[in-house]
Amino acid sequence: MKLNRRQFVSTTAVAAAATMQAAAFPGSAMAATAEKSDVVVIGAGYSGLNAAIMLKDAGYKVTVLEASDRIGGRAFTGDHIEGRPELGANQIGPQYARVRDMAQRLGVELSHGANLNAPFTFSIGGKLVRNEDWAKSELNKTVGAERELLPTQLMSSFLVKNDPFQNSSQWLQEAAAGAYDISLGQWLQRLGASPAAMRLISEGLIAPDLWSASALDLLQGIPRNFSEFKEQSSDSVKGDSHEQAAIVSSRVVGGTQRLPEAMAAYLGDSVQRNKAVARIEMNGTKAEVTCLDGTRYDSSFVVSAVPLTVLRRISIYPHLAGDQREAVMMTPYANTTFIYMNVNKPFWEDDGMDASLWTDGPINLVRQAFDYDGTRDRLVALSTGLKANQLDQLPHKERGEFVIKEIERLRPSTVGALEVSGIHSWAEQPFNAGCSGALPAGNTLRYAQALVKPHDRLHFAGEHTKRLEVGMESAMESGERAALEIFDRS
Ligand SMILES: Cc1cc2nc3c(=O)[nH]c(=O)nc-3n(C[C@H](O)[C@H](O)[C@H](O)COP(=O)(O)OP(=O)(O)OC[C@H]3O[C@@H](n4cnc5c(N)ncnc54)[C@H](O)[C@@H]3O)c2cc1C
Repeated sequence: MKLNRRQFVSTTAVAAAATMQAAAFPGSAMAATAEKSDVVVIGAGYSGLNAAIMLKDAGYKVTVLEASDRIGGRAFTGDHIEGRPELGANQIGPQYARVRDMAQRLGVELSHGANLNAPFTFSIGGKLVRNEDWAKSELNKTVGAERELLPTQLMSSFLVKNDPFQNSSQWLQEAAAGAYDISLGQWLQRLGASPAAMRLISEGLIAPDLWSASALDLLQGIPRNFSEFKEQSSDSVKGDSHEQAAIVSSRVVGGTQRLPEAMAAYLGDSVQRNKAVARIEMNGTKAEVTCLDGTRYDSSFVVSAVPLTVLRRISIYPHLAGDQREAVMMTPYANTTFIYMNVNKPFWEDDGMDASLWTDGPINLVRQAFDYDGTRDRLVALSTGLKANQLDQLPHKERGEFVIKEIERLRPSTVGALEVSGIHSWAEQPFNAGCSGALPAGNTLRYAQALVKPHDRLHFAGEHTKRLEVGMESAMESGERAALEIFDRS
């Protein structure tokens, strides 16, 4: 692997490159005045920042262009909302080596245990069931061993107990994984899931339905070689998978966003905010990146570290083609919408039920997140997938009012107890346009392979190019892979 800088950084090479650039892009009047670097990284989320840090450390001149005035992308700490909730990433899994190393290197403090939620009460068809009564409730129409599992546990239990893979990379191997590149619905049927269990799973799904979600994509996300999580996910009755993951995870003290901010601070002036990239033009040896405001950047390589929802809107020359074009254009992105609320009386003491609520209505979950200091005066209602898109049809004020009315209808003890403190929809974020990509059933392997292939001078990073891990760690891993690809080509 070559880590040495190439000759093109010498004064003469840069001058020659500028001349070549003007010749290669004759239509670009500003080509001669474009800023020059070795690599332009698009997007200052975990993936882009990690790629940029690796490149900088290896001696490359890097420019990071971030469309927003905020650093962090889907690591978004709601500093503007009471209680400073996490609007995006929160849990740092026990196997997140890259995230943990970066925090240590930059002196960002992690603390053990992520956000915890109060246990759930269940609302089925408008009727409330206590956590401990679920297994015997007449509202529980599941069968056999399923009956013992809470609706919040069904999905993780099926995934963990039927995980066919021995290690984290098998999901990418045709021979091992081909049989699972089917819809979640088909896979659950194959495992003998009851229609009632499938219905309950679909109520909380982030994908539009069981038939578009990919079993393989979901199996990729299971933490392997981690028996503690597996045992807790399948056997604990009181908690759900989020809860159990939280117990063994860590969080960034002061908010998840503090870590990408520290990464950007390390990179200094090379990170430019309010620079929405609109166009990438390449000629086989050089690239020119143009922002919406007309500023231009010349480089030898470009790293795209933006979600596919946004990459689709960037003009790329030469055009993407074949499987890669299809994967970029067609990979669906899910949505999550959050309604944050202050709680002015302990309504759970009035009805004697657990404070959080799982519903099969338009809201998926109403979680009582314990603050780190132990206070219990806030709730967050969240909807995912189609339900989130349905809620997003309402303007913010009406959305908040609707959610409070719905909670009051389902749980009368909350009447007068709730007040909206903030609303956040990931589909409404212009530079994310969704919360996460989900490789579609039947095309999971093909798309996973196509999405990482370098295109001319353009390399791809971002959570959607995950390999071994999920979430923030997969974003870090993808930035590392893109940087290594560039080292190899330099
Ligand atoms: C609700 C939610 C909860 C989550 N919880 C967890 C969790 O608990 N643990 C976990 O590990 N992960 C979690 N994740 C996932 C995690 O947040 C992501 O995997 C990770 O942050 C993705 O990083 P990224 O660099 O791939 O993309 P992003 O963070 O989306 O970064 C992309 C960046 O590109 C910028 N950009 C977009 N368009 C342009 C453009 N045209 N020009 C320039 N810049 C542009 C964006 O503004 C953004 O800063 C969660 C995500 C969400 C939404």
